[in-house]
Amino acid sequence: MSNVNADATQLLTILKNMRTSISSIETTRSSVKMKYQQLGIGWNDKKYDELGTIVKDCNKALNDILQIMLQAEKYVASLAKSVQEYDNVNLDTPSARNSFLQGLQTPNVGNSSYQYCLGVLTQGSTPDGYIAVISQRHENAEQNVREVFDHFAGKLMIQDSEYPPDQTAHYSPGNYIGHSRGVYYNAASDMTNPRGAGTTYFHELAHMIDHASCNYRSNLSNTPEFAEALVEDGQRILSLYNNLPVEKQTAFLTRIRQDSAHSFSDLIDATTNGQLHGNYGHSRNYWTRPGNLQAEAFAHFFEASMGDQGKLELLANFFPTAFGIFSSMIDSIRPDNHVRVLSRER
Ligand SMILES: [Zn+2]
Repeated sequence: MSNVNADATQLLTILKNMRTSISSIETTRSSVKMKYQQLGIGWNDKKYDELGTIVKDCNKALNDILQIMLQAEKYVASLAKSVQEYDNVNLDTPSARNSFLQGLQTPNVGNSSYQYCLGVLTQGSTPDGYIAVISQRHENAEQNVREVFDHFAGKLMIQDSEYPPDQTAHYSPGNYIGHSRGVYYNAASDMTNPRGAGTTYFHELAHMIDHASCNYRSNLSNTPEFAEALVEDGQRILSLYNNLPVEKQTAFLTRIRQDSAHSFSDLIDATTNGQLHGNYGHSRNYWTRPGNLQAEAFAHFFEASMGDQGKLELLANFFPTAFGIFSSMIDSIRPDNHVRVLSRER
């Protein structure tokens, strides 16, 4: 069994390729539909109807392929997981021959080492002790949020955990050739993150969960009531602040300038149009794009709930209405609720 390791690596490579194919089928399916509808704007006769039948057949074929792929993906994922679990308990130290075999058997395309981090398929390496740090946060997480994390973990993907540290970590929602859907970040930087170790990991994956929970069509967080609640909470903080005596204002500013208050700073900056902020915040332009405020708040609340008690208290106490809406969103995608909601749609 000297090449068990290589088998796991190969399986994980296959799994990644399957996921890329699945998303590209999904993209094709929706683009065929959209093009047909666009054509319909200026063209609506018998020929258009005939084309409609072809489009329908094409859609059905794509759906069938998609169902098969999704089924197969599930099997490969669980097989890869089992092989890797076996690998982890295998007491044999990886021999030189083993890594030589691995080198032969793994297609050499970019960074091709895969692993699972808290059940999330991850391309690239992580520094020593990193898994322990994020596992600790996972253990200390709020139960409802952790359940959601675990429920979605198998669908999430870290495309690069060695993304250059001087580039901005992000979740890429699109599926571009050479830049597939998933998270890009630097795990080594996240290990010594001044905002708290593991902050980037949970923040970016939260963006992906926000998107995945709507089948990548929109974001769960993108509702007008969530935006309104955020702005109302922010405006209330601003007026409280304005009525504080100067020394208390100074103390408040000192608090929100701490690195650990980065998410609070970001949200108060956004919801007061820059009138109040600490040391962190997105650009004004970023906040003008619809849905961005809700998406960032969702990711900040989620990250804080994954084992950062101090951050969570700050956010939940000062943004109570918005946090309440976030909690309902989480409940709506908790595993047991999710099944109920889906079956009601039929
Ligand atoms: Zn973000």
